[in-house]
Amino acid sequence: MRTNPLAAVRNLGILAHVDAGKTTVTERILFATGTTHKRGEVHDGTTVTDFDPQERDRGITIFAAAVSCAWDGHRINLIDTPGHVDFADEVERSLRVLDGAVAVFDAVAGVEPQSESVWRQADRHGVPRLAFVNKMDRAGAVLDDAVASVRERLHPAPLVVQLPIGAEDTFTGVVDLLRMRALTWTDEGEANPAAPVPDDLRAEAARRRRLLEEAVAELHPGALEEFCDTGALGTGTLTGALRDLTRSGDAVVVLCGSAYRNRGIEPLLDAVLAYLPSPLDVPPVRGTGDDGTERRRPADPAAPLAALAFKVSATATGRLTHLRVYSGTIGKGDTVWDATARRPERIGRILRVQADRHAPLDRAVAGDIVAVVGLKSARAGSTLCAPDAPLVLEPPGVAEPVVSVA
Ligand code: GDP
Repeated sequence: MRTNPLAAVRNLGILAHVDAGKTTVTERILFATGTTHKRGEVHDGTTVTDFDPQERDRGITIFAAAVSCAWDGHRINLIDTPGHVDFADEVERSLRVLDGAVAVFDAVAGVEPQSESVWRQADRHGVPRLAFVNKMDRAGAVLDDAVASVRERLHPAPLVVQLPIGAEDTFTGVVDLLRMRALTWTDEGEANPAAPVPDDLRAEAARRRRLLEEAVAELHPGALEEFCDTGALGTGTLTGALRDLTRSGDAVVVLCGSAYRNRGIEPLLDAVLAYLPSPLDVPPVRGTGDDGTERRRPADPAAPLAALAFKVSATATGRLTHLRVYSGTIGKGDTVWDATARRPERIGRILRVQADRHAPLDRAVAGDIVAVVGLKSARAGSTLCAPDAPLVLEPPGVAEPVVSVA
């Protein structure tokens, strides 16, 4: 049986308090996935997602760019969400188009006020999340303390799947508690091949693995039955249980690393694929038809088109409208209906945004996130749909002006 290609798509957001390291994590993801070949540094203003000069000057992420990258046979559409509280509406709109997110925390500061407000917004949108405790190399970084602050302030069930190897300056890797193997990185941030758990950490790793199994069994009794059948929680079972718990929002898988030192990014990407949902795993999008009744659209390329414009930017390439296609297919040159402005629109070029490059596409299907050139009326918040099957995905009146990007 041929698997649906949509199963290999992850529409991912990175959520964080300003300064927790969202830009650095994003940058390292683009680097690890081969999307960029140069490691941008936040302090020298060369990062890819922050390409608004105003943003570079202010040192905060205000530009919600969508960037597409590839990891282990999957496509990850990375939607950058602003961490600054002044851009709450933009965060809200980004959250609408995500299927899953990584919440980044500073290992020393733990949960900060803005991480809490963005977390609550994500709760409202039902976005499944992983937690990444960043800056494990910093003086005073203690994973258990950061996890305790997640438990106290955000979620009662953080499930830690790694044990750090070394601390602060000597943080060199993690024990993967699911596979019971050591993942370490060189001083340059290159991943070493997976290795057996070091002798001095074996007892502690076994203890933490048991705690993890017990927590999973308590939260997900179905997994416990399998545990009894086989006599041991197999890796597959634990992964499946963690996937269920993440997608239902009943637990949050916690990983750690140091984005700055390029440590922990590959396991984070593996976790994104393993635990966060594809467009096929989320409920059908809902909208309102012309007659005022609710319409639901499945993530099916053959269904009538329903797409949401979530960001419009004026770039050197032209006016780019960033779209999440929820159902149906859009093709280059198609005439679609802007249900918000109530007028037809013609799709010019369709682009997949890859960091600083744009790859032209002939069409985009349900589940995808792309940019379209040539739309005249669409604004952030506009619905584009099939002319003969109109619906509005977001109430009118929330559209925002075009953002200028040099
Ligand atoms: P953002 O505001 O969340 O996008 O955070 P940035 O990615 O801009 O990072 C904020 C600051 O923390 C910058 O000076 C980064 O260099 C630094 N930083 C990011 N990740 C790490 C890390 O893993 N360790 C340390 N020590 N510093 C980091």
